[in-house]
Amino acid sequence: MNYNYRYRLRPSDALEEQLAWTVNTCRQVYNHFLHRLNRTDDTSAYSEQKLLPSLKKWWNDLKHVHSKVLQKVVQRLYDNLSTLRGRKDNGYRVGTLNWKAPGEYRSFTYSQSGFKLKNTSGRTRLWLSKLGEIPLTFHRDLPDDAEIKTVTVKQEPTGKWYAILGVETPDDPPEKPENPERYVGIDVGILKCAHDTDGTAVESLDLSDERERLERAQRDLSRKQHGSENWEKQRRVVAERHAELKTKRRDFLHKLSNYYATEYDFVAVEDLDAKGLVELPGNSRNRAGAAWGTFLRMLEYKCEREGTHFVAVNPRGTTKECASCGVSTEKPLWVREHSCPACGFEADRDANAAWNILSRGIKKRLGAGRSESTSSESHSDSDGLRKSLSDFRTPVETALPVDTSVSAKRVVESGSPTLKREPSGER
Ligand SMILES: [Zn+2]
Repeated sequence: MNYNYRYRLRPSDALEEQLAWTVNTCRQVYNHFLHRLNRTDDTSAYSEQKLLPSLKKWWNDLKHVHSKVLQKVVQRLYDNLSTLRGRKDNGYRVGTLNWKAPGEYRSFTYSQSGFKLKNTSGRTRLWLSKLGEIPLTFHRDLPDDAEIKTVTVKQEPTGKWYAILGVETPDDPPEKPENPERYVGIDVGILKCAHDTDGTAVESLDLSDERERLERAQRDLSRKQHGSENWEKQRRVVAERHAELKTKRRDFLHKLSNYYATEYDFVAVEDLDAKGLVELPGNSRNRAGAAWGTFLRMLEYKCEREGTHFVAVNPRGTTKECASCGVSTEKPLWVREHSCPACGFEADRDANAAWNILSRGIKKRLGAGRSESTSSESHSDSDGLRKSLSDFRTPVETALPVDTSVSAKRVVESGSPTLKREPSGER
């Protein structure tokens, strides 16, 4: 299993200057290879990395950056390139890779070597080759059997420095048994943050206060003279407000994803790329899309960590399709109820979608189970799944629980919607 652990770095002024210098040098290396990429055919991360030693002969600054860090810069460029190509293949309109200006490039990464976590007389320090020892706030321990694979040093727009340790632990957790009672399908929505097949509807987190504070800070910034000392001070305030917003949203999504990964054996959600966010106006679409992507990534790795089965399904038509009979009906965003003209099945719009997501998830899992079912164990496994699929598909009406609405605030405070432990009748 792989995890990321993030720690605040406390560099001295001299060290901080060195860190910033390293980031800036890496940025120039990135731009150098981007320039080559745009002019030279047939390059790859591997072939370009092999040019680094000869580059050092005339680019003296590079001698003060660890060689693995430089290799990672080249890797990062080619990773960005393949992400871009992937988006192109999925039908997105995309431009080309951008030249990185100062401020747009904020980190560098060591992999395999050139770093060490040291603990001398109760103080933890991160040693980095070519840079030295940096004190850090070690607010949580790493797992006992964890091995540090990568170290990323990053400066946030607030000016604060962080180290992100990528660690690996030897064993994957055992997969959970698949008890149909602990299956869940989740419709991640826009008006509601999530609606699942157990009838839990979690409202979106209200961040309007934080957003207002951010906007006020931005207005103040626009009144300062660009580049002045006051402007720089205010720019940091704006960055702090941004960070505050992000932290609150992440905290909420962490707790929500943790709830699903720990409470269930099998979790089905919609796949990210094709989600029908197009119905929304630009700004809120971007916001919802970003939060949704973060939630999905968190949910996936937490499921992996817990041994929970995670399936992402094709989202096409999950809202229009009737969960009971499968007939599709057009349904604009403002229609919040599903009422099937073919079979008469009625449900909340998002609950209906969640049921479709779950049954698609089970089908997808069944397909995967069949293709690899050589041992008797996986046979019985998929038989159980097939049975539960038919359970889900036909008597949906009787299986649908009463919807319960949960405020985002409760998720933040308690760490989960905690519906299972709640006395019935209480909201
Ligand atoms: Zn129907």
